[in-house]
Amino acid sequence: KKSSLSEIKIVVIGAPNVGKSALTVRFLTKRYIGEYDHQGDTKYKHEVMVDGEPILFEILDTCPKNDEDFPLNEVYNWADGLVLVFAITDRNSFNYIRQVKQELDTFCSPICLVANKADMVHLRQVSTEEGEILAKDFECSFNEITAAEQVTQVATVFHELCREILSIRRKNK
Ligand code: GDP
Ligand code: MG
Repeated sequence: KKSSLSEIKIVVIGAPNVGKSALTVRFLTKRYIGEYDHQGDTKYKHEVMVDGEPILFEILDTCPKNDEDFPLNEVYNWADGLVLVFAITDRNSFNYIRQVKQELDTFCSPICLVANKADMVHLRQVSTEEGEILAKDFECSFNEITAAEQVTQVATVFHELCREILSIRRKNK
């Protein structure tokens, strides 16, 4: 019996310039493209194999206008899971995620916290420990990665989130 293709909806959230688009495109195409000049939120739909099973990823790459521009409730309602991104080189982007946390009180789907631009340690403004503490607060996973230099680790973040989403979905069936 052929089972239907699993669909997973993920929203990538973070302050401007943290590398949300770089991470999303890296995961879906394995490529790193330096600049992404889109103006608004972009939705990608792409089939990816996870643990030998084809998964249809729908990824909403959000595009806030500034540090005060947060996702609307409908975005959270749409999501099966969230990737929350800050850059280790940008303290404001860490604070952005802290504010998102306050708006996420009723969100109970899987989340992963990502510290991007780990290749820029010489410009680090947020310590690994601060990231770990925030992740504990969210009760979610935490990974320091670099979209610019890594392929596997970026994919692992999305794969892990996918596994969590599917496992909850199967339990609730
Ligand atoms: P977004 O606004 O969050 O979607 O950020 P982008 O994906 O457009 O990336 C913003 C800038 O940061 C671009 O110039 C990227 O090339 C750069 N960037 C993204 N990821 C990394 C990374 O892991 N390391 C470094 N050094 N630069 C990155
Ligand atoms: Mg972008």
